[in-house]
Amino acid sequence: MKSVLQPDGRWLAPWDAAAAWPRQGAVATVTSPPGRAARNGGFGLNVAAGGHPLAEPALSAALKQRAEEIEAAFALIQPVLRRLAPRQFDDGFPEQAHGQLVNSLGVDIPAAELNSSWSTPLDLGRLHARCVLGTFRNLVEREFDRNLPALLDEGESAEVLIPRFGFHAVDITSCSDGRLLGAVDFILRVPQAVVVWHDAYAGAMFDVEDALHRWESVELRRWREGRPNDASEPTRYLKVGLYHFSSADPRHQGCAAHGSDEVRAATALLARLQEFEGAVESTQCCGASVATLLVGVDTDTDAIRVHVPDAAGRTDVDRFVSSAALYEQTASLGREAAKEFIRQVVADCTGVDAADARTEGMRWLCGYLLKNNIGQVDAVLGWIGGRYADPGHTEKLLVAGDAIDDVQLRNLAFQAQMRTLEEGAVDLDVGIGILRRTNAPHGLAVPVLVHVAYDERIPGACATAQTRARRLTAAIETRYADAAGSDGLVVQGVVRARGRARLELVEAEGDGPMSSLPPGARRKEALR
Ligand SMILES: [Zn+2]
Repeated sequence: MKSVLQPDGRWLAPWDAAAAWPRQGAVATVTSPPGRAARNGGFGLNVAAGGHPLAEPALSAALKQRAEEIEAAFALIQPVLRRLAPRQFDDGFPEQAHGQLVNSLGVDIPAAELNSSWSTPLDLGRLHARCVLGTFRNLVEREFDRNLPALLDEGESAEVLIPRFGFHAVDITSCSDGRLLGAVDFILRVPQAVVVWHDAYAGAMFDVEDALHRWESVELRRWREGRPNDASEPTRYLKVGLYHFSSADPRHQGCAAHGSDEVRAATALLARLQEFEGAVESTQCCGASVATLLVGVDTDTDAIRVHVPDAAGRTDVDRFVSSAALYEQTASLGREAAKEFIRQVVADCTGVDAADARTEGMRWLCGYLLKNNIGQVDAVLGWIGGRYADPGHTEKLLVAGDAIDDVQLRNLAFQAQMRTLEEGAVDLDVGIGILRRTNAPHGLAVPVLVHVAYDERIPGACATAQTRARRLTAAIETRYADAAGSDGLVVQGVVRARGRARLELVEAEGDGPMSSLPPGARRKEALR
C-alpha cells in the first residue's frame, strides 16, 4: 500500500482517498473521508458544537472541568517557583519556601533541601521536575471519578449492556504516546468499571505472552468465582488495540514508533492482535477464542476509525468506519435516526444485514464506540474549534514501569511500560527524547516516575515491587547519566497496591549519578 501525495502537500493513506476505499457501498466511508484537514481547522462543519444530536453536553462539560482542574494544578508550578527564585538568598528562605510549596502546590520538600548560597544557587530545573512529580502524584491520589460516562442518557449502563452484547471483559492497549492518555475517558468514553486492563506500549506493540496471562486470569476467575460472569456463559474477552495517526501532519505527527506511517501502525497492531488470538486458540484448546478490535485515533481531533470485523470476524486495515465522517452525516438527523444511521453503516461495513444475529454483539460495540466518540468530536469542536492547537508532544512527565491511567488527559504523560530497563529501553529512549526536546530549552529537568504495581494479597509482593522500583530507578539514572545537570532527569520510584490510590515512595539505593545534590542528599530527595 502506498500513500498518496495530495496537491496541498499532505500525504494520505489509501483509505483517505474516497475512490480507493474498498467498501463503496458503505455510506460513511464514501462520502466523507475521515480526518481530512478542513479549511477552518475543524471538520468544515455547519454544526454548532453541542448542537449535534449525539453530543453529550453533560458528559463533555464534566470532562472539560476535569481537564481544567488537571491543567490548573500544573499551571501553578511555574508562577510559584518564579516568585521563590529571587528570594532564595534571603534569611529564612528554606522554611518560607517549604511552606509556600506545601500551601500552593501540595508538594512537601524539606526545608533542608531548599538551602542555597550565592555560590550554589537552587537548581530550579530540578525543583520544577520534583514539583511536577509531586503534583502528578497528588492528582493520582485524588481518585477522580472514572465512571463519568454514567452521565450518558442511555437508560441502561455500559456495565449491563456490554456483557449483554457478548463481552465479559474489555482490555485496551494503546500507544505510550501521551496524546492517547485520554483514550479511555475522553476518546472512547468507556466507564472504567468495564475496562479490566489498560496498558500502553510504544506503537501499541504489546507482549502477546503477557496479554495471554491476563486473559487467563480473567477466565480463571470466571471458572472459580463466576465473576464477572460464569464461564458457562457464551461471552468473550475483548482486546481493543489503539493505534494513532495525525490528519493534519501525517508524515511528522503520527506514531513515532512506526515512523509516522499510519498504514504501518495499523498493520503492525492488527498482526499483534491476530497473534494474540492465535496464542489463545493454540494454548487453550476446546474452542477458546477472544474477540479483537482495531481502532485508529486521529490525535489532532480525537476522532476514531473503527475497523469493523467482517461477517467472518476478519479485520482489514482498509475497511473501517470513521466517526468524523459519521459526525457530519448524522448532524441533521434526530437522535434516534442518527443512532440507526450508525447501526446501518456498521452493518454495511460488516457486510451483513442490520438484523444479522450472529454479528450483532460486535456491531453493537462498534456502534457504541462510534457514538461515544462523536460526543468527543463534538466536544473538541466546542472547546477548541475541532483541532488541537498543539498537534505534537507536550507531555509533562514520563511514567516508566507499570502504566498509570488514573489521571486521563491528552498529552499529560508518556507511558513507557516495562519490567526491566532492558525490556523497555527503546520505549524509554523515545519518551526521554520527546521530553528533553520540550524541557531542555527551558533549563528544566525531565520528571520520570518509576511506578511498580503489586497485589497486596500476595505475601512479600510489596517488598518485591519496591526492589523492582529501586532497580529500575537506578538503571534509568545510569543509562541517562550523561544528562545530569540542570537539563537532566529527576527519577522518583513509587509502588502501589493495585486498586488503591496511594503511591508509596521508594527509598533510592544510594547516591545515583543523576544527583545534583551533595552526597547523602540524594536519598532524601528520592523520598520527596
Ligand atoms: Zn505511537
